[in-house]
Amino acid sequence: TELNATEITQEAAERLSRSFNRDIHFVAKEPISFLGQEDLFKQLLFILIENAIKYSKKDIVIRLYTNQKSLTLEIEDKGIGIPENEQTAIFERFYRVSEDRNRESGGSGLGLSIAKKIVEQFEGTIHVQSKIGVGSTFIVNIPLRPFKEVSLHD
Ligand code: ATP
Repeated sequence: TELNATEITQEAAERLSRSFNRDIHFVAKEPISFLGQEDLFKQLLFILIENAIKYSKKDIVIRLYTNQKSLTLEIEDKGIGIPENEQTAIFERFYRVSEDRNRESGGSGLGLSIAKKIVEQFEGTIHVQSKIGVGSTFIVNIPLRPFKEVSLHD
């Protein structure tokens, strides 16, 4: 079904902001829709926002924008960051960056592997830009499939 990504993202940001009592800023210029499954998109948002909350103590910024060919979702935190040599492995099942820094935050190391599966289901990509002690931005790109053109010939 056609999902209103802007509306769903705003709702998720508001709900998680309230329940974790943390500031989450949502930046979007226009309504963006794409074809996908609503519960999967919500789960993707939940995983990325919950991680941003868990691994930072400051405000979180969510941006949603489009170039008409694809939509981009960015979730930025000013938290502990992720070592450069682990920025690919974190998307694997059960992978967690160094157990001791993670001990207090718990977790199974499954969230990001599920996030990646969901993004692949949308035929998109996910990666992270991050610096230790500065923060992390998770960047999701999802193609906006054009509606099938009806051929006037043949
Ligand atoms: P859970 O499955 O409960 O979410 P988790 O947070 O350990 O547990 P993932 O979401 O898969 O699992 O994340 C994998 C690892 O990547 C985390 O253990 C953490 O080390 C690192 N990580 C994920 N998101 C962030 C973030 N926003 N900032 C810093 N590190 C992160």
